[in-house]
Amino acid sequence: MTSEVLFAGLGLAEPLLRAVSDAGYTHPTPIQAQAIPLVLSGGDLLATAQTGTGKTAGFTLPVLHRLNTTQPARQPAAGRPRCLILTPTRELAAQVEESVRTYGKHVPLTSLVMFGGVNINPQIAALRRRVDILVATPGRLLDHVGQKTLDLSGIEILVLDEADRMLDMGFIRDIRKILALLPAKRQNLLFSATFSDEIRELADGLLDNPGRVDVARRNTASELVQQSVHLIGQKQKRELLAHLVKKHDWRQVLVFTRTKHGANRLAEYLGKQGIPSAAIHGNKSQNARIRALTDFKEGTLPVLVATDIAARGLDIDQLPQVVNFELPNVPEDYVHRIGRTGRAGSAGAAVSLVDGEELKLLGAIERLIKRPIERVTIDDFVPAPISDSAPPAPAHRQQPPRGNRGPRPGQGALQERNRGQARNGARPAQRGNGRAAPQHKKNG
Ligand code: AMP
Repeated sequence: MTSEVLFAGLGLAEPLLRAVSDAGYTHPTPIQAQAIPLVLSGGDLLATAQTGTGKTAGFTLPVLHRLNTTQPARQPAAGRPRCLILTPTRELAAQVEESVRTYGKHVPLTSLVMFGGVNINPQIAALRRRVDILVATPGRLLDHVGQKTLDLSGIEILVLDEADRMLDMGFIRDIRKILALLPAKRQNLLFSATFSDEIRELADGLLDNPGRVDVARRNTASELVQQSVHLIGQKQKRELLAHLVKKHDWRQVLVFTRTKHGANRLAEYLGKQGIPSAAIHGNKSQNARIRALTDFKEGTLPVLVATDIAARGLDIDQLPQVVNFELPNVPEDYVHRIGRTGRAGSAGAAVSLVDGEELKLLGAIERLIKRPIERVTIDDFVPAPISDSAPPAPAHRQQPPRGNRGPRPGQGALQERNRGQARNGARPAQRGNGRAAPQHKKNG
């Protein structure tokens, strides 16, 4: 993921290069090598890049450079930031602001993160001081505008991070309201993992002759990640999951469920089976989410159960193991989910637990990734009989419902056994990610 270009050749000021070096990075990633000079030149930017490409430093570093080396458009004042970074989720906002502090630690600029779901008063108090860079989710930002605690008339640089997620999550009206509050003369940077018609429309209205950076979509996840499917009834899934975690001694596994309720129930069940687990979703308090994420990253919490929405924007990738407890309704989400593993050459595996009702979804996923996913059976797993339905067939004889039978092109072979299981049990590649950011912090 790195290139032969050095950070030192990109035009960044010395205090920023020092912070990059402190963080342990020598070579920019491809998006950094391309985006940093473009942003430094002052023009607008349209970048297609996913989480994991180094995009955050790709905009944070040149933004810090520009703010530090140019005169403010308006006299700096309390609650009147010069740069606004909008993100779809609270977690992403916290992570981006953490990056701002990491890379801005040797320059005298201040940053603030604000998002909903937490008390607004500390944010109001923080806005009584000087804030150069504001990282925010759209809803809470508009709350502050409504309360007149925030003045957007000094914004010189606007960054929309994960713009496609913001649109997916229905933030387009909020974004338009915010755009209407910004000075017309400003630099705009738009980052998106995908380039859809909606993004094109947003970009057309927002960006002036933008520089383009395209980092190839990481569809290659489907090639790098060792994927398998267990065909199993919905009711036996949780037992099979507990069995797999114990059998392979999985120490860091991200489990996706479709609903918040399902995430809660599953985490509770696993806890009762002696597997420490936490659920992470929109109904959890911010503190609970941050605690779960920190424990998970540090390796003290082996299982994190998440909905797709909650998992978006989380800086957790390079995981050894992802489990799809249910398949996502949208095939592209499968690629996003498994893209959390197997990054940068590290071993990764994705296991999907699929019941008869999900076979159509499985077919759609296989068409998208253009390959069959291996069906695997577990010889030593015998599900407990279920009282309110017919006893299940032993797992090793499990078959999909009639009409879906047999290995067919695009469906994979049904009875292949346990290939790759040893790899599934690989120890996690630990990452030294920091904790979520506090609300306000002075840099430099
Ligand atoms: P991002 O895509 O911004 O979420 O970054 C993904 C991960 O890459 C983060 O954990 C960064 O700390 C890390 N990273 C950013 N820049 C570099 C770099 N130049 N070399 C190696 N890792 C990096």
